Amino acid sequence: MRPISAVLLLLTVALQAADPTPSLRGYSQSAATTEIQWEKKLRDMPDTARLRENMRRLTARPHHVGSPYDKDNAEWIQAQLKSWGLDAKIEALDTLFPTPLERSLELIEPVKYKAKLEEPALPEDPTSNQKSEQLPTYNAYSIDGDVTAPVVYVNYGAPADYEELARLGVSVSGAIVLVRYGQTWRGIKPKLAAEHGALACLIYSDPRDDGFFRGEIFPKGPMRPPFGAQRGSVLDLPVQPGDPQTPGVGATPDARKVPLSQVTSLTKIPVMPISYEDAEPLLKNLTGDVVPEAWRGGLPFTYHVGPGPAKAHLHLKFNWDRKPLYSVVARIPGAKFPDEWIIRGNHHDGWVNGAADPVAGASAEMEEARALGELLKQGWKPDRTIIYCFWDGEEPGLLGSTEWAEAHDRELKQHAVAYINSDGNGRGTFSSEGSHTLENFVNSVIKDIQDPETGMTVWRRQRLTDISRAAQERKGEIRSRADTRIGALGSGSDYTVFLDHLGIASVNIGYGGEDQGSGQYHSIYDDFYYYTHFMDTDFAYGKTLAQTGGTMVMRLADASVLPFQFTGFADTVRTYIAEIKRLATDQRAQIKERNAELEDGTYTALADPKRKTVPPSKEPLPPYVNFAPLDEAADELTRAAEGYERAFAAAGDQAPASVNAKLIQSERVLTDSTGLPNRPWFEHLIYAPGYYTGYGVKTIPGVREAIEQKRPAEVEQQMVRVAKALQNEADLLDAAAKEFAAKK
Ligand SMILES: [Zn+2]
Repeated sequence: MRPISAVLLLLTVALQAADPTPSLRGYSQSAATTEIQWEKKLRDMPDTARLRENMRRLTARPHHVGSPYDKDNAEWIQAQLKSWGLDAKIEALDTLFPTPLERSLELIEPVKYKAKLEEPALPEDPTSNQKSEQLPTYNAYSIDGDVTAPVVYVNYGAPADYEELARLGVSVSGAIVLVRYGQTWRGIKPKLAAEHGALACLIYSDPRDDGFFRGEIFPKGPMRPPFGAQRGSVLDLPVQPGDPQTPGVGATPDARKVPLSQVTSLTKIPVMPISYEDAEPLLKNLTGDVVPEAWRGGLPFTYHVGPGPAKAHLHLKFNWDRKPLYSVVARIPGAKFPDEWIIRGNHHDGWVNGAADPVAGASAEMEEARALGELLKQGWKPDRTIIYCFWDGEEPGLLGSTEWAEAHDRELKQHAVAYINSDGNGRGTFSSEGSHTLENFVNSVIKDIQDPETGMTVWRRQRLTDISRAAQERKGEIRSRADTRIGALGSGSDYTVFLDHLGIASVNIGYGGEDQGSGQYHSIYDDFYYYTHFMDTDFAYGKTLAQTGGTMVMRLADASVLPFQFTGFADTVRTYIAEIKRLATDQRAQIKERNAELEDGTYTALADPKRKTVPPSKEPLPPYVNFAPLDEAADELTRAAEGYERAFAAAGDQAPASVNAKLIQSERVLTDSTGLPNRPWFEHLIYAPGYYTGYGVKTIPGVREAIEQKRPAEVEQQMVRVAKALQNEADLLDAAAKEFAAKK
């Protein structure tokens, strides 16, 4: 802990003293007093020595899906939960999970090089030598393949990179695409490469992105060494997470399994991750144009696009077995409202030893569960049922959470109030993304959590950080808004099925930013040695995460009226609509200008006749869009949200708990069972991972992506669906407000 200045300390004490009457949204004053006392007890319990021991135990050996230590960890977590008095079960399901049988990559022209495809053990790092148990470097759910072809470099392999490549007159058709990690989620890279006609895809870690360009390399520092490679899933997650053989249903023993030949969420071409040490000979042997400036990495030579003369041979073959998933689920029955469930989760499986990802989060979640067990012994009883989940199989494709939630989908739709997720954790400021109906709630909780480094509240530290990082024109808005905004959720962790498929209000939480993390992401070096040398080395933020998650769970479980708040949500929806309008206007203006430049001969004037360049083609102007249906629905939502807020305030201590049945449905009504275009599993109409960004969120995705992907006929059709969902939300809030009035 850093020394706190005397002024800051005085200020903190003064602020605390200035709040004599306890108040928590959804609690009567006496209930708030009791709740605050219990919450303080919870926050005193997480223990950094235990967090360290949890991590040492869980990361002692590789623990990926199907490995002996993955099962061993699940059994140990279950035994720990039981020893704390919790009713914990292992819920086993199974899944398709391919592991490599053969992997080889050779440069065959103009020089020969055989890729090592291996991360060596390091003497400093005691668990890096467990080779017989480590999964090799590979991308899970790549298809088998044997390809010999010239190499083309396509930067991050994002949509804009292919447009740029077309300008240079280079095609990837029939080629092996070499791209670097970063910017887009990795699964998008082979997807786009295949759409452009490539035969295979190699993804390497450029030192500019997470190697020596950023900082000292491991083991001297935290960044990725030359031979480090990033494992990871390339399952088509933005279309269908979970077991590829049981789409939409839980992978129970009697579930029908789609034959492997008919599975649709695998890649279309073989793909493999490599280190920059293995990528260097390929990159060095490319000629053709020098790459655009933004495409240049950190290696000490000039990057060229190709194609060739580098010609490579890639061979991949996998074992396509089904493997067991061992998720651990513990229930604390609610005393008053047992049929209303608060769900908390973090995955326990890793790619290898998995310390930062996921054990930093999982060991904090365990400390929360231990603290709740302790409170139960002291006489605390939650009003609602609390479910603590430790998921298996997150890394390959959100498998454990997705299959469990699909297996229990009806009960969850009926009973689930909210889902709180965490994953990796580090040192630094708080970040959270999630349902904006919980934005005010998240703010209320982090006002009661102390940041271990500065001594100020987590809320204050995050807010000041936000203001300092924001663009000049946004600073005032952040300062004047009562709640700090939370981000929207895309995908990339276990909240996906809860929010996007089932419409359960969800929040993802974590700490980070000061640890230079991600340098060992998904490598054999993300282990206890690395974490305790370079990440949250004293587990201060592990403790803070446990305090944050535990307080959220308790406060949701005990509130008499659920602390959902809708004016902030309505305000956020308006910002999304404004963004989409701007997108449509900008896109129209850009196409118009480009068409004019093409007619003017601008491209001919600018082109160097001694180099090959290809002008873009003329595009039809997209029609003007009438956004009135969305604007009207947003007005209705704002009106209803304000009405609910007034009725809630007027009801005061008399607010009836019966209103909760409606509040629980407030996220459900934002979904539509027919789902998004081309991906029916994704039912939420406000939040989704981008079809071409992967983890990155697209808000109001139906409308936004129809514009981005230039399908004008779809825009108004999608807008009608979103408007209807917003209207349904407004109707629900009107009915909830009436319930307050009726009981008065
Ligand atoms: Zn993770």
